[in-house]
Amino acid sequence: MVARQDRTTDPELLEALLQARRGTAFFARKLNELSDDELDGPSLLPGWSRRHVTAHVGYNARAIARLIEWAATGVETPMYASTEIRDHEINFGATLPANALRHLFDHSAVHLNVEWRDLPADSWHHKVKTAQGRIVPAGETVWMRTREVWTHAVDLDNGATFADIPAAVLERLVRDITGAWQARGTDTGLLVRVTGQQPELEFGSGPDAQLVVSGPLAGVARWATGRGTDAVTATRNGAALDVVPAAPKWI
Ligand code: ZN
Repeated sequence: MVARQDRTTDPELLEALLQARRGTAFFARKLNELSDDELDGPSLLPGWSRRHVTAHVGYNARAIARLIEWAATGVETPMYASTEIRDHEINFGATLPANALRHLFDHSAVHLNVEWRDLPADSWHHKVKTAQGRIVPAGETVWMRTREVWTHAVDLDNGATFADIPAAVLERLVRDITGAWQARGTDTGLLVRVTGQQPELEFGSGPDAQLVVSGPLAGVARWATGRGTDAVTATRNGAALDVVPAAPKWI
């Protein structure tokens, strides 16, 4: 049987879909390395076990698939009916037997992939609404999913690190997060500098910044997502700080 192909032929979109699929495969690999008992262990996210992370990633695929169905049909379907329902769903999913939890992840990922694959080229421009209320073209869902699968693979806390995430994904992540801080005005006086690559990247306040946080791309992304300060250094008004301040809140 010949495998069916994506209906979009947009090279940028196909590249983005590849990153999402790679990230999904990466999450699947890290999940499959864990024994059923190990699923009960803590994740890197406060208050969440690995079960919560897995349930969340599964339900996230279903929620994004709803947006693709919306783009395809024009019938408005939110990602989640409410934040309470989303949280309840995750807490419920975390109690599933291990095989059901694994099935939730696998099945939801396959379903989303089919929705993406079958979405007509023109429908990728249709507008949908994210859980945060942003109106975005359906194509944005690919990035939304990419971000989730790569970062939550690290959150499973069984060996994956930000250094495993492709540079293009890390760079967009840092751009997204620093952009969100800027939109909210929570980054006043803060400059984020990515070192160890040419050209060096900078995000934020420019030359007047009092606080400068710098490090390699993976370390900066990890810090920016609120997952640790180990791989970055900071200066305030030019003086090195012993303790790197926590990043402003992201989501
Ligand atoms: Zn998430």
